Amino acid sequence: MSQGKLIVISGASGVGKGTVLGLMMEKRKDLSFSVSATTREPRPGEVEGQHYFFVTTERFLEMIDQDAFLEYDKHNACYYGTPRAQVEQKRQQGHVLLDIEPKGAEMVRRAVPDAVLIFIMPPSMEDLERRLRGRGDTPEEQISMRLERAKWEMEQRFWYDHVVVNDDANRCAQEILTIIGE
Ligand code: 5GP
Repeated sequence: MSQGKLIVISGASGVGKGTVLGLMMEKRKDLSFSVSATTREPRPGEVEGQHYFFVTTERFLEMIDQDAFLEYDKHNACYYGTPRAQVEQKRQQGHVLLDIEPKGAEMVRRAVPDAVLIFIMPPSMEDLERRLRGRGDTPEEQISMRLERAKWEMEQRFWYDHVVVNDDANRCAQEILTIIGE
């Protein structure tokens, strides 16, 4: 049986990736989400094994040693990584969506050359800042750090396969589904 595609979705924190990915999975039942491991603290409402696998730094470093990650990166003072075995298993069932940042995306492109890399842009920088603050789940001292990082991330969009703008989550989800195809 042929494997599903690996679809990498990147975009600055606050751009609405979670909402867009959720809408895509509602519309297409053959898509699954790669749940990353992270050392960051869970936010209110985040569920272990659904949004992330929340692990200690010690455990994360152990997983690096065991070559358990397809890719990983340290940013915003925390580790984030894609468990390799989970992705391979989910690809047997259909296409797999990875919500990861550009350094991880670059590692995936090297490891899986036919992965499809998609970058989501906000309609404007002001819009991104408003959404990040409006979300209410990011401490103020982290907001400027995340905005700085957002600027760097957005400069990386040029080497992605596709760039889409999240001006409307439904429209954006549909555009990505059209890119993914069958
Ligand atoms: P957040 O802390 O807001 O959930 O995520 C922060 C950033 O980490 C986002 O840009 C997200 O795409 C990225 N991220 C989440 N999981 C992974 C992962 O497994 N690997 C990499 N490289 N980045 C990730």
